[in-house]
Amino acid sequence: MLVERAYAKINLTLDVLGKRQDGYHSVDMVMQTLDLSDLLWMEEMDQDAVIVDATAPHIPLDHRNLAVAAAELFRERSGIRRGLRLKIEKNIPVAAGLAGGSADAAAVLRGLNRLWQTGYSLDELADMGAEIGSDVPFCVYGGAAVASGRGERIHRFTHSLRAFVVLTRPPVFVSTADVYEATLPEQYASAPASPRMVKALQEGDLERVRQAYTNGLMATTFRLYPEVRALADRIRTVTGQPVYMSGSGPTLYLLLPTQSQAQRTYNALRGFIRDVHLCRFTPV
Ligand code: ATP
Repeated sequence: MLVERAYAKINLTLDVLGKRQDGYHSVDMVMQTLDLSDLLWMEEMDQDAVIVDATAPHIPLDHRNLAVAAAELFRERSGIRRGLRLKIEKNIPVAAGLAGGSADAAAVLRGLNRLWQTGYSLDELADMGAEIGSDVPFCVYGGAAVASGRGERIHRFTHSLRAFVVLTRPPVFVSTADVYEATLPEQYASAPASPRMVKALQEGDLERVRQAYTNGLMATTFRLYPEVRALADRIRTVTGQPVYMSGSGPTLYLLLPTQSQAQRTYNALRGFIRDVHLCRFTPV
């Protein structure tokens, strides 16, 4: 039996560059993992199957669960057909733009590689992960990276900024597909913001990170789901801080330089929202 952590990610930039022949959009994004994580317990069992149990009510417990899909794929690729019991201790808000499912899948790939001593490199695990979903390769590595293509092409980089993040998941269901479809070509970026963001992170300059932030889906999410916009406005008014969105939302977050400012912001948000988390960039 072993346990592996699955880290949530936020988008520090998300530029939509165009629509591809295959129906996907080409994107360019700076992603960063947070120390907000699920725990994935993996244990062998006699029965030739993969079964999963989770502490969260709203996630599928069959092959649609990305952790199960990852285990099935790993068993097929490695030829190791041992039975597996998975348990997901869910802390990452679900369907939030935080890549919780993808992070779980990535953690299963890393965990089974340890459990069964298969010796795959991270690059090989990331290639496997791309077959499960566009965000899985980034989640295999964690840390910070520029993701391009559909989000599956990963260019990792290092930096030493360990900013504090206060995030909240508004109780609104956002359809990622609808948001992409409703994003107009005039909202596509002519050039990605990622080089500026990478530079700001590497200079350790949180003010520049805030200036370099961009999300080409935010206007569309706000238009389709006015409750998300209303909450973002309220958070901005209460805290006096800029408010950002991860992925297609609905998660909203703030970036703070110190623990004490983050704690004050957390307390302020907890006054009127239930689902609030105080976390930090993972070390890169
Ligand atoms: P992304 O940022 O990659 O778009 P997300 O954070 O918006 O992902 P997830 O938390 O991954 O979304 O959940 C999206 C959907 O995937 C959920 O509605 C859920 O039914 C399904 N799902 C499948 N496996 C999992 C899992 N292990 N954890 C959470 N959701 C999962």
